[in-house]
Amino acid sequence: MEEIKSLYKKAGEFHGSVCAGIILGVRMACLACRMHGINDPNSPENRKQLMTWVEIDRCATDGIQSVTGCSPGRRTLKVMNYGIMAATFLNLFSQKAFRISVHPDSRNKAKALFPELTDSNHIYIEAYKQMTDDDLFVVEEVRVEVPEREMPGPPPKRTACSICREEIHMGCEIIKEDKTLCRRCADMPLYYTPLK
Ligand SMILES: [Zn+2]
Ligand SMILES: [Zn+2]
Repeated sequence: MEEIKSLYKKAGEFHGSVCAGIILGVRMACLACRMHGINDPNSPENRKQLMTWVEIDRCATDGIQSVTGCSPGRRTLKVMNYGIMAATFLNLFSQKAFRISVHPDSRNKAKALFPELTDSNHIYIEAYKQMTDDDLFVVEEVRVEVPEREMPGPPPKRTACSICREEIHMGCEIIKEDKTLCRRCADMPLYYTPLK
């Protein structure tokens, strides 16, 4: 693995600053790579090896993306917003997967390390750099089954909505009364509300 300091720096540049979440994300990703025996996750031959599910859409996610090279565009980073500081790292070659979550006692241990400091942000940044993996994280081995349509690889075939004619990637279309429809035309819940 690259030096941890340069990983923090790179992730900080990607994220905008080196905050406590970045430290956690970088350390989590490094631990996962070590457990999977991946030395250079960002190299072209390793890019297809790791797939990551993050359980939070905050700072740590950018740290994980920066270290692993997993990204939504490569289909190797899935954001499940459970609001939990945890991520699961699946090795697609071995099918082994580890879920790494932040230890429930990590905040208290961090504060105990720097009793003289008052700025909690500063405490967490410094403590999370120094604490051991065992103090910071809980690791469990898990199994992840990835549906074919979630896998990285060449773009899928496309179809078109029979009402609005927008292109849809195969597997995402909705069939209603024998018609191929997009979510909007099928009256499925959307993240936006059309104004007309
Ligand atoms: Zn941040
Ligand atoms: Zn449509």
